[in-house]
Amino acid sequence: MRGSPLDLSKVVIVGYGVSGQAAHQVLEDLGSEVIIVEDSGDSTLRELAISRFAVGVFRSEEIPQVIDADWPGVVVVSPGVRPSHIAFRYFNAPVISELELGWRLTDLSVVAITGTNGKTTVTTLVSSMLNQSSLNSIPCGNYGTPLVSLAGAQGWAVVEASSFQLSTISEFAPDVAAIVNVTPDHLDWHGGFENYLQAKLRILENLGSDSFGIIPIDFAWRPTPESFHSFTFGNMEGDFFASETELISPIGVIAAKSDLKKALPHDILNFLAASACAVSSGASLDAIGYACCEFGGLEHRMEVVAEFQGMRFINDSKATTPASVVAGLSGLGRCVLIAGGRNKGLDFEPLLSLGEKLAGIVVIGESADDLVGLFAGVLESSRIIRAESMAEAVRAGYGLSDNECDVILSPGATSFDWYSGYEQRGLDFKDCVSGLVNSLRGDAWN
Ligand code: ADP
Repeated sequence: MRGSPLDLSKVVIVGYGVSGQAAHQVLEDLGSEVIIVEDSGDSTLRELAISRFAVGVFRSEEIPQVIDADWPGVVVVSPGVRPSHIAFRYFNAPVISELELGWRLTDLSVVAITGTNGKTTVTTLVSSMLNQSSLNSIPCGNYGTPLVSLAGAQGWAVVEASSFQLSTISEFAPDVAAIVNVTPDHLDWHGGFENYLQAKLRILENLGSDSFGIIPIDFAWRPTPESFHSFTFGNMEGDFFASETELISPIGVIAAKSDLKKALPHDILNFLAASACAVSSGASLDAIGYACCEFGGLEHRMEVVAEFQGMRFINDSKATTPASVVAGLSGLGRCVLIAGGRNKGLDFEPLLSLGEKLAGIVVIGESADDLVGLFAGVLESSRIIRAESMAEAVRAGYGLSDNECDVILSPGATSFDWYSGYEQRGLDFKDCVSGLVNSLRGDAWN
């Protein structure tokens, strides 16, 4: 085990989703006694826990009655568990995240990536850069397989780390740690921007003298990296930067911009951040350049889903913050924006910077009123349309485009008012676009 010893003989796991179940599996293999705390009331989760020999399955409010505060040696909390949860103050044991447990139990070298936007993209890129260099890496974390599931694996783990997971680390010390960016997000959960920022900064907290920390060149909250190597990246001259024509690193030119399949401003930043991680992990320049040039983007992130008579329909359902909407649209010309959903307590004001570029806006979901209010007086009222379904939104977006500009779904809010997640929202958008385009093609044919 890495770090100081943990007493894993008796463990309470709070939250029995993907990461809680993964932690349970590993602890069962280690012979730990495990109690599960899960509030959903889902009987299949209870049955799964019992089938894996959990000694008890309880709800949060039962904790003081049924679990002795001295019983566990460790408490493992899932990312969704709020800082106000009783588990953080009741037990006389360390409370850690699955990320911390995973890091303690694995021998893998670790690249960890956090940020408000771009985490999954950079994680995917770094993993493909390392694999292309025959360094054998597995992308994991918030993004898919929990780190704890990789306990016996060899090589590199490229871990997408959320602010929730980072807020409950203690000794987690990646070999390479990157912060892609920090803009306001999840403020309701963290209780304000400062706490959110501090959670993100924790990724750098335990880096050793042979580790690497990577931050944007214009990062306002620069830590003093005396104890680790550091690189900066960004679109002005630094360690990893973009010239007019090339992506450049301290060990040479990474790629010509003209060879990239994706080259919006935020794509370039993601390539530079990923390259900095990969160089720090020992990947070759050729492999890094190849991975950048081959990268065609991920589903639900600036994904062109249809082209029709010169205009495009773009699915950016994963953009759940106003900052990511602005970043995504920065590389587009005039367009129609479909936006809205469940607001996570964020200010939509940054969207006003798009005013000039918008041919119109279609507002959806719970935040429709807020968006109508925001754009009233900025756009003509006939250019602001409220839609009650995605199909209506796509039709209205097409109408506003006058067949002359792109239509993009980039909500700036979560999907939970209408959908189970951003993937379902993106798939619905794609279905509606294909329905509309097929019918338009049919009309054109007839
Ligand atoms: P995350 O995993 O952090 O949510 P993703 O890689 O899934 O990030 O990208 C989510 C959305 O964020 C994309 O659809 C895009 O609009 C936007 N985005 C991606 N990279 C960046 C970046 N570097 N800066 C700002 N926005 C970005």
